Parts: sequence; structure tokens; C-alpha cells
Amino acid sequence: MLTHLQYTDHASMSDNAANIILQAIRDNPDLVFCMASGHTPALTCDILVSKIRSQGVDTSKITFIGLDEWVGLPDTNPGSCRYFFEHKLFTPLKLQASQTHLFNGMAQDLDRELEIMDEAITSRCIDLMIVGIGMNGHIGFNEPGTPFNSSCHVADLHPITTSVGQKYFTESTPLSKGITVGLGHLMNVGHLILMASGTSKAEVVQKALEGPIDPIFPASIIQLHDSVTVITDRDASSALGKAS
Ligand code: PGA
Repeated sequence: MLTHLQYTDHASMSDNAANIILQAIRDNPDLVFCMASGHTPALTCDILVSKIRSQGVDTSKITFIGLDEWVGLPDTNPGSCRYFFEHKLFTPLKLQASQTHLFNGMAQDLDRELEIMDEAITSRCIDLMIVGIGMNGHIGFNEPGTPFNSSCHVADLHPITTSVGQKYFTESTPLSKGITVGLGHLMNVGHLILMASGTSKAEVVQKALEGPIDPIFPASIIQLHDSVTVITDRDASSALGKAS
């Protein structure tokens, strides 16, 4: 079943997304939680940390899985996904290293990174996954054309991903490959949440929810998921029902 929750703005959608995550942790202290980094979920992370602290919610048993990572970027680079999660969630919540699973985009042996993450996911099963959507319809680094049954893999990044991705960096950064949890894993999560905000995402949100279900537009896979919530602000949902 697909539920669409629309809020007035990015702040209110982030607050509500944080509430959903918080409730999931309360309901299941052993929650296995996979999340994307990026601009869309950044405020959700901040609000979540603040609510967890103020409400004294125990996060000592959750397991966190990072959705993806740029290949070849040191984790000291503020544009890396690891940097994002270390600063926004792991350090503020004092999560133990044993609770977190992130790809090492600097690893010599990326195949081993894939094996480790596939094993971490299949041994536990992801209860809750929060993803964004790229301007080419990607989810994580599942780029256009990625098979819907893919496991963790290294992707050659699509030109839209490498150009839009510059927004995470203070200086021009060569980006060519990413490492990501696959769409096959996404299909197996207990509850999938896709978040999008802003007018720039209106067209891709419309395609994801109302367009043809086709690997050429990876986010269309959400139409096949048993339990998915799409959380948008008003701007990001402004093209729904208006496709020509
Ligand atoms: P964003 O990234 O949240 O920074 O817009 C979304 C994505 O590319 O998956």
C-alpha cells in the first residue's frame, strides 16, 4: 500500500518524518534502520536527535545502515555520506561502532564492501528505510537502468548525478562511481519512506508515483512496494495528477 503524506513545507515534513522514525524506535528498540544522506533528510536527522534527547528514547539497540557512499572520497570530506551520518546522528546519539554499517568508499576491495553490506542486510532484514529521490529518479546510487532485483553494487554514476552532486561540495569534485544498497533490498524492507521537497522535485515525484513502472526510472519501483509512505511538502507534490 502506498500512502502519500503532504505537508506545507520542508520543516513540517521533516518534523513528521522524525516522529515516524521515533515511533518506530519506540515500537521496536531493536530497529534496523537504513537511511539516505542528502539535503532532503538533513533536517529530519536534526529534529530526530533533538526529540530522542528530550524524550529520553533509548537508541542503544538500534542498528543503522547507510544507504550509499561516493567511491574514492575520504570520510573527512564533508560531502561524504559517512561524514553526514557521523556528525548528524552517530556522534550526537553516541551510537557504538557495532551499531552502524556504512560503506567504505575508499576501500581497496570494493567487492568485499559489497559482501559485508549484503551480509549485514540479509542477516537482519531492514525494518525501516528512508530514501530521497534524485533528479534522474535514482534512489541511493541505483541509477537509471538498475535492475529492480539488484543487491549492493558499485555504480557508474549518471551525468545528472555527478553534476547535481556538486551541491554537496564546496569545490568542484570529480565524482564517477558510487556504492549503494540495491533495489532488491529496498523491496524487502518492512516500511519504505520516500521523502522529497521543493519545486525542483515535483516532476520526479510525479513520475515516481504516477509514471510507468520501469527500471529506467528507478524510483518508480515504489509503486510495487507493499508498505510505502511518500512524504512531501506542497511544492514537491505540485505536479501530481497533472501529467500530460
Ligand atoms: P537530496 O538528494 O536529498 O540532496 O536532494 C536526493 C538524491 O539524490 O537521492
